[in-house]
Amino acid sequence: MRKNIVAGNWKMHKTHTETLALLDEILAKKQDTPAEIIVAPTFVNLKAAQDKVAGKGITVAAQNMHQAEGGAYTGEIAAHMLTDINVKTVILGHSERRAYFHESDALLANKVDTALKHEMRVIFCFGEELKDRQADNHFNIVEYQLRDGLFHLEKKDWVNIVLAYEPVWAIGTGETASPEQAQEMHAFIRNLVAKVYGNEIADNLTILYGGSVKPDNAKEIFSKPDVDGGLIGGASLKAEDFLAIVNGF
Ligand code: 13P
Repeated sequence: MRKNIVAGNWKMHKTHTETLALLDEILAKKQDTPAEIIVAPTFVNLKAAQDKVAGKGITVAAQNMHQAEGGAYTGEIAAHMLTDINVKTVILGHSERRAYFHESDALLANKVDTALKHEMRVIFCFGEELKDRQADNHFNIVEYQLRDGLFHLEKKDWVNIVLAYEPVWAIGTGETASPEQAQEMHAFIRNLVAKVYGNEIADNLTILYGGSVKPDNAKEIFSKPDVDGGLIGGASLKAEDFLAIVNGF
């Protein structure tokens, strides 16, 4: 059976001190849950976060990574630097990386390959913009993003892939896709994966929804059959809100 996940993408928030304080609070208040809890602090805080939560039921993920094996790429971080500190999950393709750092589907396909080569798990983000949805083109956009970013993979690679559907118009806007819109797209995505890779891979694939998930809407979104959890931005920055979302399972 596929896994439920609630992941907090902390983006460019939280100092070292604040990171440790937030993790202390999450660890202290966390209840038993069937979902895997993931947090993704900034690069400078990954090692401290990993040390703090090791063995305590929380996974630490990176928010990005470079596709090269290392070398003269000022300001960048390579996969083996992450795995060396036991960070084995990486978020790739977030819409903010695509929009502000011009990450293309082709580049992301390279990054995915590098991560998988290092036996990392990838949380692969994608989703349409408002103009795409208004033009009724959202299914096409999502299909292209998946095809160009992931459909070169082999069947065996999919155990290390988690998908995160994040409609850009719902990120940080307070406007959430309705549970029905999320379910409709997630079912489309799962069918697409089934067509290309077969039912077994599609059935076992975790598909997260992201975009203004809050304590008061998480439970209903997570109740949809093809929504296996969430990738949470703003509401993951407060322990109480984040854990209330986790408790949506
Ligand atoms: P918000 O939850 O703040 O809308 O952000 C979603 C997101 O981008 C998670 O990666």
